[in-house]
Amino acid sequence: MIHFKTEKEIDIIKQSSLIVGKTLAEVAKLIKPGVMCKVLDTVAEEFIRDNGAVPSFKGYNGFPATLCISVNDVIVHGIPNNYELQTGDIVAVDCGAKKNGFHADYAYTFEVGKATDEIRNLCKRTKESLYLGIEQAKEGNRVGDISYAIQSYVESFGYSVVRELIGHGVGKHLHEKPDIPNYGQKRNGPKLKKGMVFCIEPMINLGTKHIRIDRDGWTTRTYDGMPSAHYEHMVAIRENGSEVLSTYEYIEEVLNKSNH
Ligand code: MG
Ligand code: MG
Repeated sequence: MIHFKTEKEIDIIKQSSLIVGKTLAEVAKLIKPGVMCKVLDTVAEEFIRDNGAVPSFKGYNGFPATLCISVNDVIVHGIPNNYELQTGDIVAVDCGAKKNGFHADYAYTFEVGKATDEIRNLCKRTKESLYLGIEQAKEGNRVGDISYAIQSYVESFGYSVVRELIGHGVGKHLHEKPDIPNYGQKRNGPKLKKGMVFCIEPMINLGTKHIRIDRDGWTTRTYDGMPSAHYEHMVAIRENGSEVLSTYEYIEEVLNKSNH
């Protein structure tokens, strides 16, 4: 069942979303060689709570942390631990926050120092595929239009699309219908209608699409150990058209500063 949101509820989700964007920017400030992943998690949790929200992931199906921190071959759901980031790593940080009863959930993949061109391109094109998916997220289109846009773009570079993990509706629950796969056919799947709010989140691998899950039950890796990138935005189908509720503005402000 799809929970359709009112305009007012969408505004509330946008407020939660702003907190996530600012939290990810706080994390961005700290991402450099030598920083321990669990330090990022502590900073994120404090920032979310200081803003009157609660971390959406902590305790979700038993997940132990505020952030999912997924380094290199980890696709998603990495548990922040004692690992210290190294130059050349890529690190996907996924964050969720709930305020006034509604969740926000999105992610960004960061480069630590400078990654190889091959890995940098993987990140750049994964992000581009997300925006191509967003372009298709409009009333009257179908979920498959989003899926196809993402899949056809990334596969044109020889990358592969993870099948087991997909985007999703979001609202009072962190994960709602509809499913938003990153692979599929045009003009297939549920029709996009006013009041839908969902996360589009391509998880794109440099090598094989296959995955394996660590014994912790969470950490999801590429089967061949090659790197994977993950970006996630939240889109609402509103009265006056589609709106991206999430924002990378604060993150990219931090990244642009550190590049000078
Ligand atoms: Mg999500
Ligand atoms: Mg997420």
